[in-house]
Order: sequence, then C-alpha cells, then structure tokens
Amino acid sequence: MAKTMAVNAGSSSLKFQLLEMPAEQVIAKGQIERIGLKDSIVTIKYGDGQKFETIEDIDNHEIGINKLLQSLLDLHIITDFNEITGVGHRVVAGGEWFNQSVVVTENVLEKIDRLAEYAPLHNPANAMGIRVFQKLLPNAISVAVFDTAFHQTMPKENYLYSLPYQYYTRYGARKYGAHGTSHRYVAERAAVMLDKPLTDLKLITLHLGAGASITAIKDGKSFDTSMGFTPLAGITMATRSGDVDPSLIYYIQEHEKLSNAEMLKILNGKSGLLGISSISSDMRDLLDVIDTNDHAKLAIDIFVNRVVKYIGQYVAEMGGIDAIVFTAGIGENSVPLRKMIIDKLGYFGIKLDEKQNEKRGSEIEISTSDSAVKALMIPTNEELMIARDVETLKNK
Ligand code: ADP
Repeated sequence: MAKTMAVNAGSSSLKFQLLEMPAEQVIAKGQIERIGLKDSIVTIKYGDGQKFETIEDIDNHEIGINKLLQSLLDLHIITDFNEITGVGHRVVAGGEWFNQSVVVTENVLEKIDRLAEYAPLHNPANAMGIRVFQKLLPNAISVAVFDTAFHQTMPKENYLYSLPYQYYTRYGARKYGAHGTSHRYVAERAAVMLDKPLTDLKLITLHLGAGASITAIKDGKSFDTSMGFTPLAGITMATRSGDVDPSLIYYIQEHEKLSNAEMLKILNGKSGLLGISSISSDMRDLLDVIDTNDHAKLAIDIFVNRVVKYIGQYVAEMGGIDAIVFTAGIGENSVPLRKMIIDKLGYFGIKLDEKQNEKRGSEIEISTSDSAVKALMIPTNEELMIARDVETLKNK
C-alpha cells in the first residue's frame, strides 16, 4: 500500500506523520527531538496506542531520519522503504515564487534556499529535511508545501505596506502571511459543514495556537491575513508581540541599549501573553489565575481585543461574513476563550450556543441555530493537507 510521509523539519527537531493514502489513515506519527544535542529522542506512536521511544545522541538530521526510517521497518510499520511513495515537506517561506504546493526539483530547492532571507530560522532546516529524505528515499516523490502559498491570492492593496514602493520591487517587502495550510484546511472543512460551496462563502479563520493568525477568506481565497512580512505581525501571541508601532521599537532600543538582534528576540520570544503577564506564555496557565492575577487577566483581555479587532476589520474589508472558524491549540480547546471572543461579536449577528461550546470532539457548530453568522470549531490538520497535496501531485 502506498504511504505518504508529512514532514515538518526544524533546526533541532523533526515532526512527522505517516499516512496510508488515498485512504487518509494515519498509521504512525512522532518526532525526533534534540538533533545535534546530547540525548536526542526519537518517538513513534503507532497501532492502537503503541509507543516506541529511544534516547541516544543524534548528531545530524541524516542520522536522525535514517534512525526514524529504520525504526519504522523494525516496528513492522513498513516492510520496505519503497512503500513510502511520497514525502511532503512543510516549508515556511515561499515568497512570491510559490502560490501552491510543488514537486521539488533542483530549481525549487535553490529557491527555498534563497528564501531563507525571509525565514532564516526555518527555510534552511526545511531544505535540509528535503535533501536528506531525497537521499534516503530516492524513489519517493518529494513535495514542498508552503505556509505562505495560500495567501498569494491577497489583492495588492491588502498585502502592500504603505512604504516607498521601491522596497517592494527591490526586496519583496510586503505581507506574506503564514499558517496558510491550516487556514486552507479549516476553510474547506467549514464549507462542508455549512453545506455550501467554499467559493460562495465569506469566512474568517482564527488559527489561535502559540503562534496565532487570522485570515479573511473570500470566494475561497485568502483575501487578507494578520501575519505580515514575517509571523511576528498581527494579533497578540504566546511570546510574539503582534503589531507594534515601529517607532516605539527604536525608542525602547535606545533607552534599553539593545541591539537589533536582541530587540527582535524580545519581540519574538519575550512579548505577547508572556510579556504582558510575566507568568506564562500558555493560555491555560493564565486562565487558571484570571480571577486572582491582574496581569493574567490583562494579557487575556489584550489577546481577545486583538482577535475581535481583526475580525471587525475583516468583516468590513469583505463586506460581510458567513462564519468564523476557531482552530489550533487555543481555538480548538479553550471553551472560555471562545466565549469571551464570541460575546463581543453580537453586533455582527453571532450568537454562542453555550452547550455546544462545551462539547468535546471534532468539528462542532458552536453558534445557535438562529445565529445569522455561524461560529465553528474545526481541529486543524496540516499533515493531512500536506499528504493530500502529495497525492494530487503524484497523480498529475
Ligand atoms: P503551535 O502549533 O503554534 O505550537 P498549538 O496550536 O499546539 O501551537 O497551540 C498551543 C497553545 O494552545 C498552548 O500554548 C496553549 O496556550 C493553548 N492551549 C492548548 N490547550 C488549551 C486549553 N485547553 N485552554 C487554553 N489554551 C490551550
């Protein structure tokens, strides 16, 4: 049976899912952590609740991926490497070169390398993952799935900053967005749930995880999105600031004597929920103490405010809305957060069904049946989307 591997390679970790395709059945998933460090960990979950874990030093990605593939054989999850006929790789930055997933060629790899300028932490690791899998599984089709691709449909007035135009033509200075695979997946599922063609819908998809972004989807296409040139822009996130007046950055740098790199680290890693609350970057920790800790409450209030503000903008930009969709860690799991957000959206005709909102499980309509605008909770599934793209390109 043909199997497809969905891969998300980072600089010191690699997450994977192995799916039976076209049946879309997950047969194994797991990760390699601490690549290049001591005591690296390979974890594989498979079968009905079985788990394999090994801890040993893994010096580089090639050794790690070799170990992973060998373990899949040893655990009888596959009987031959050639059973894996496709590998789909998440790639963070696709720039203006990629508006959809592509089969990886030398030319594609070269472009991914060049786009490292836009995503210095991610693209080099993504490219390394691609190269190693190509070497170890030379017969499998290799596909790149870009976080930015879905957003390439944004109109110019939405993706361009109000900066001198030559910075766009010279350096590609514009909004690219991110989480595109997730927004695309939940939008497709929303259309199924609403029983309407996606092309007839105006949706706002809320990917609220540690990284968080909001996308306006009109006529089935990304129309606007909250992340910018990089994923730092937009709403308040776990440790990222989201939108800030750029002049303030220089003001703080001057007073605190911070280098550009140090300031960028603060904006990416010490701001957001963590920075405001000084308690935690995890929404669960903040919700636990919301009634007793003013800073936790303030962090949550700011988070909710930014989400609501973007929804308002996008309703106005699209000239209406049919449904909002909650997904990712916070969006899928936090009953109180969904309530806090929807309670502020009454003006738009969204009414929360509190009982539905408390329900666990997958794909739930959480608005009342008479709500003019629907609210949905849809668990995201980027790996499945990657596997589907591999399947589509394999059959082309
Ligand atoms: P990412 O993929 O961006 O790392 P996830 O989508 O996995 O993030 O989301 C992780 C975040 O989801 C956590 O940091 C936590 O804040 C939040 N989260 C998970 N479960 C809950 C919950 N039950 N209530 C509130 N927040 C939650």
